[in-house]
Amino acid sequence: MRERLVTAACVGLVMAFSATSGLGEEYLSGIKWAEPKVVDPGPPPSDAVVLFDGKDMSRWNGAEKWTVKDGYVTAGGGAITSKDVFGDCQVHVEWASPAKAKGSGQGRANSGVFLMGIYEVQVLDSFKNKTYFDGQCAAIYKQHPPLVNACRGPGKWQTYDIIWTAPRFKDGKLVSPAFVTVLQNGVVVQNHFQLEGDTPYHRPPAYKPHPSKGPIGLQYHGNPVRFRNIWVRELKEVKHERIDEPKIVKH
Ligand code: MG
Repeated sequence: MRERLVTAACVGLVMAFSATSGLGEEYLSGIKWAEPKVVDPGPPPSDAVVLFDGKDMSRWNGAEKWTVKDGYVTAGGGAITSKDVFGDCQVHVEWASPAKAKGSGQGRANSGVFLMGIYEVQVLDSFKNKTYFDGQCAAIYKQHPPLVNACRGPGKWQTYDIIWTAPRFKDGKLVSPAFVTVLQNGVVVQNHFQLEGDTPYHRPPAYKPHPSKGPIGLQYHGNPVRFRNIWVRELKEVKHERIDEPKIVKH
């Protein structure tokens, strides 16, 4: 009798588990996905375009006055742009402000990473250096301050990992704005921020139609900011097609 009771209790438990977990049933989305490509994460990841590996600036335009030494490059003379162009992408940049902090506000280690050559993620030494918040380090310049100030001190290497969704234009009109997520030193400082347009100093942001791909730009703002390990990965959706309606099948 006792054994029968135990067995009955077990059956009951299994039935309850089946009802809540859907055991024996499977949801199928009806979408056929291509297999995701294998990528060796590196760093740099095996599918990255390495724009600067510490040796030379041959993949950049305008870098004649940028000086390469000991695996890094120091800004000088003017802004530079990558010869390669990108749309949606992941960008990794390491940078360091001068070890001896000079200047204040916007004048201390000012540079910038420009997506598509147009949209600036500010580079600045904001370690105990105040300026307007939508212009401090890791701000989307003049649009949005970083969520937090994750700056390391002067002279220390810092990382930017930027996830960029390019704006879309059709027939000369904006159909989808740009979005950006930024991690500084591994800390999320911009979370899928929707850009209002470009990032100038002197007028409100605005979108002007441009090609679907553009270069990565690095700003020269009069300060000898250093850079190393710059690479970019194009981001593409996994190929897929709908081959059936969503359904639940029984096994
Ligand atoms: Mg700047």
